[in-house]
Amino acid sequence: MKIVRKGSHPILERKRQGEMEYLSFPALEATGMVGHLFSTRIGGVSQGIFSTMNLSYVRGDDKEAVDENFRRIADALERRVSDFVCSDQTHTTHIRVVTSQDKGKGVLYPKDYREVDGLITNEPGIVLSTFYADCVPLYLVDTKNRAIGLSHSGWRGTVSRMGACTLEAMSQTYGTRPEDVTAAIGPSIRMDCYEVSEDVAAAFQAEFTKEILEEILLEKGGGKYQLNLWRANQAVLEEAGVSKSQISITDICTCCNPDYLFSHRASEGKRGNLGAFLYIKKG
Ligand SMILES: [Zn+2]
Repeated sequence: MKIVRKGSHPILERKRQGEMEYLSFPALEATGMVGHLFSTRIGGVSQGIFSTMNLSYVRGDDKEAVDENFRRIADALERRVSDFVCSDQTHTTHIRVVTSQDKGKGVLYPKDYREVDGLITNEPGIVLSTFYADCVPLYLVDTKNRAIGLSHSGWRGTVSRMGACTLEAMSQTYGTRPEDVTAAIGPSIRMDCYEVSEDVAAAFQAEFTKEILEEILLEKGGGKYQLNLWRANQAVLEEAGVSKSQISITDICTCCNPDYLFSHRASEGKRGNLGAFLYIKKG
């Protein structure tokens, strides 16, 4: 399938596992420390609006289909479904310190926590799992202390500096220093496709400097703006101390590629979920 990309230099690599296609950041692979992927719609077993690689159990898809889709993701990651630990996303900046006690939660077992948009761990083999259809995934890898974070950052998360909140949780829990972190901003909606209203714009205007606002917010008139979540999340990570050279930014927009990726905007909400996954390899 041909996909629309932004920029001339591909940031994400397209990979296959059997029928399944997924996306991978070479910069995260180059750490040698983690396994990761971002899923596409290709190579799952779900039907209709969920076709084919839907990873949500709560949007109306058949449980058996989602189970099989998770098994295929696990194969691509060379892990088991029982290694997965899922977020409970409600656009908060709450972050859970994940341990082996949590393994399987959200896939094999019910979650016993609520309102968790970020996951961190330093235990090898646990697959941190978060879910998307236009919002921004943030992958964080502390190569010095061997700790990771994976966070969901929509516009609410972005304006609340979810990237910095996740780094702060990693710092408090594992001693992470931002300068030791390799980060990736995953597939999500790009500025040209993301129109927002006055109230969203006002939230960003209250939080970010004039210099950053010039890059992330474009006023179109009529109370409408275009918002650049990619650049805003990059700015949050840089302000928190992550080196610019250590941040990979997606070149693929969910909304521009609605047959390849699930997009809430492009589908007007009739869609499944994509997944971002990250785990520490046994050292
Ligand atoms: Zn787009």
